[in-house]
This record gives sequence, C-alpha cells and structure tokens, in this order.
Amino acid sequence: MHMEKSDTLAVLFVTSEISPFIKTGGLADVSASLPAALQQLGVDIRVLTPAYPSLLEALPTTHSHDNLFLSSIGTNVGIIKAIHPTLDIPLYLLDYPPYFHRTGGPYQDIRGKDWQDNVWRFGLLGEAAAAIGCFQLPHQFAPAIVHCNDWQTGLAPAYLHFCKKPHASSLMTIHNLAFQGNFPPLILPRLDLPWEAYNLNGLEFFGHVSFMKAGLQYSDAITTVSPTYAQEIQTEELGFGFNGLLHERREALTGILNGIHETEWDPARDPFLEHHYSRDNLANKSKCKQALKKKLGLDSQNSPLIGVVSRMTYQKGLDLFIEIAPLLISSGAQLAILGNGEAPLENQFRDLASRFPGKIALRIGFDEALAHQITAGADLFVMPSRYEPCGLNQMYSQHYGTPPIVHATGGLADTVADFRKNPSKATGFMFHEPTSQALLTSVKLALNCYQQQASWHKIIKQGMKQDFSWKRNAQQYIEVYNRINVSR
Ligand code: ADP
Repeated sequence: MHMEKSDTLAVLFVTSEISPFIKTGGLADVSASLPAALQQLGVDIRVLTPAYPSLLEALPTTHSHDNLFLSSIGTNVGIIKAIHPTLDIPLYLLDYPPYFHRTGGPYQDIRGKDWQDNVWRFGLLGEAAAAIGCFQLPHQFAPAIVHCNDWQTGLAPAYLHFCKKPHASSLMTIHNLAFQGNFPPLILPRLDLPWEAYNLNGLEFFGHVSFMKAGLQYSDAITTVSPTYAQEIQTEELGFGFNGLLHERREALTGILNGIHETEWDPARDPFLEHHYSRDNLANKSKCKQALKKKLGLDSQNSPLIGVVSRMTYQKGLDLFIEIAPLLISSGAQLAILGNGEAPLENQFRDLASRFPGKIALRIGFDEALAHQITAGADLFVMPSRYEPCGLNQMYSQHYGTPPIVHATGGLADTVADFRKNPSKATGFMFHEPTSQALLTSVKLALNCYQQQASWHKIIKQGMKQDFSWKRNAQQYIEVYNRINVSR
C-alpha cells in the first residue's frame, strides 16, 4: 500500500543504536527493521542517531550536510545525511565530535565503564530530535511525529512540550524500563530546560531528573514492545517506579510486539552460515550443528546441543542456567554459550566452562556471526529471563528450527507456544516460576521430546511456520501515529 504524496506521513525515528553498525542489544535490530518495514508501508521515515565512528566508516562518503543550531551548547551541530546501505532507509547522523567521535560502545568505554558525559551526549540527541520536530532543519523534512526509543531519547518529548512554535507530536517506545537515565537535578539549566519541568508531573523522579520519565510524561502516546510487558509495567514488580504513571496513562499505552527482519535472519540465506536450510528442507541443519561443534571444540559424540546468546545480566536469569548446567552435562547434553556483561556472571560462566572441557563451549564477547551460528546449530535455545520486554532471540531461534525454552514473561510469553499447554501446536517450552528447579523441569521435558524424532520435527516445523515479520505489527505503529498526528 502506497499513500498519495500529500498523505505521506513523515516520521523522525530517534535511536541510540542501529544494526549492524552500532549494537548492544535488541534496540539496534528494531531500529533498523522497524523503519524499513514502515518505509515499505509508505511512511516517509528518517532515522536520527549519533554519528558514531563505526557509522561514519561504514557509510559511503557521498552524503550532504546540514547545520542545526542547538541552544544548550549555543552552537551548530552537523546533520549528515546518508542511506542505510542494506535497508535503504534515510539516516540523519547527529555530528558533534566532542560527544560522539570516540572509541568504545555507545554508552560505555572499552572497559565497560559508562561514559561520564552520557547526560550531555543523550541530552543533545533529544534536543536535536526536538529541534527537527520544531521544523528547524533548513528546507524539506517536517516530521509529523518524533518517535523516541528508550531513555537516551527521552528528553525529546520534553523539549517539544516546551517549544513555543508549532511542532510534531511525539511517541515514546519503551524497550526496557530498567534503564532510566536518572541524573542530578542541577543538570537542568545546562540542558536548557526550564525549572518548571522539575516536578512530580514533569521529569522529576525521586529527586532526580529522569530522561525516561520525561519521555513517558511529555509524549503524546507510549508504546512498548509486547502486549504482556505493557501490562507488567503497570505493576509494582516490573514498573521500576513508573507503574503509577503508566497505569494513569494506560489509555495512551499500547503493547506492539516486535518483529524480526526475515532477510537478515533467514536460515535459507544467512551469510554467517556455511550450510543453509529451510522448513521444507531441514537436512542441512545438522551440518550447521557439526560446523558449530567443530568451531567451538566440542566433543564429536552425538548429544543434544543447548545454545545461549545473551547479555550476561541479572535480568536474563542466566544464574539459574549456571546452577543446572552440571546436571545437564551429566544427562548427556552439551552447551554452547555466547555473551558478555556483568563481570561476576562472566566469571561464573568461565568457572563452569573450565570444569567441563569439550562439553561446554563458552565465548565471552559480542560476536554477530557466532550468534547466528549458535541459533542455527543448537538443538535447543534457552532464555530464562526474569523479565523480558519482548526478546528477539526466541523468535530467531523458532525461525531457525531451534525450539526455545523460556520463562513465561513479557514478549517470551507472547511468542512461544508451550508444549505442556498443547503438544500439537507447540513451538517451544515454557516455565512459570523463575527458579532453577522450574527451568530444569522444562529442559528435561525438552530433552525427552528431542529423543522422539517425529514429534520433535513437528515442534521445529511449527516454530518455523510462525510469522514473526513486521508486516502486521508495523501497521499498528501507523495506527498510533495517526491517532496522535495533529498536522492532518
Ligand atoms: P536485549 O535487547 O535485552 O539484549 P533482545 O533479545 O531483545 O535482548 O536482543 C538481543 C540482540 O542482541 C539479539 O539480536 C542477539 O542475537 C544479540 N546479542 C546479544 N548478545 C550477543 C552477543 N554476545 N553477541 C552477538 N549478539 C548478541
């Protein structure tokens, strides 16, 4: 469906990471695949993100450049225009070298320490988004909607709220409420936001300025990345202090399930795989397993292989998996684990792996190729997250014929059909209490099913049949945009 030119909805999508150039998690994938899907549906979408070195290096040099005056720094920043080389979406790169030209991740240095000036870096991103939303970019692009993502962009709705001129509406999408961007109140004047914003109905949050709260309070609508998480964040347990606000704004809050980019993640043509397969021709899946085992130095015996690809944090519940790992090894399974994150958890994994050479393969780090190879080569995929706003890996693994074992929370509950509930419709296995015992019971059940070839193939095929594409869900974003669009 293509809209008439005059009807074209213009959206500025603001994000702090974008696949494949700068990525710490699912936000990067969504910031690439969702704008691509919206563009396909006729939306004039441009993605605003900082001009990190990895982006500047990866993009062709033929881009134009605009200046945008930002009052908090009293000077112009550059807006470099480029096109995402594989997805063909227009990118606006916020070029301010003192903040963004540095070696390291988007939020942390190479040693994993938060950049001290994140408050100014992402304050500037929000201010730039709002300036474009107040139509300050010379010529052309006048967005009807500024679509913000997580705390790093949360100040944009506040700047828009206090902008005296006509301006775009704003949407705030929560990808993970636990990351809030809370800073001391004294930052406000330097951010060029008025003190009147600093109150309970503004961006004040327990004596701090909260970027996340700014986004939740001042946006015209809020979405989050799964229907179940939309409910969970209204509870004390998973609301992280925002449950009251979110419950009050529940009419403005919609849960829209993330989709996956089915060409970037497709076992039939995945460039990271030596062998390819599909739902109708699964023969090569076992070759992917052999290649993975060889690459990781796992013993060649025929055993079920359980995969993990994850940030190593308390949220992901991997401590539960560490507890049961020795039992899984003694029952004949092997483990392939990729991740990085909190040092104590990384160290526990190192200890574990050193006790079971040839049975447990561990890679600490961020490795896109290996992530794809584990997703394809493992027989089972484990995600014991204590909470999970949406989760992408359980969708990738179903798409790759690798049934997931998940805790029934957030998007995991919305995307996996549990074997215990209905074996004939199952795509994976679910447990309801975040305990090692409950996880173990589910893994044992999965390993049992794995031994029964016919029913196992049915689970694999059922998973591969699911439609996790953005087709339907991107349309839901358009509905939200239309609801808050005042320019019509
Ligand atoms: P979150 O955003 O909370 O980390 P998601 O499941 O939404 O979780 O997205 C995680 C994304 O990051 C997936 O694309 C996953 O494959 C990727 N990922 C996580 N850890 C690693 C890693 N160590 N190496 C490569 N990719 C990783």
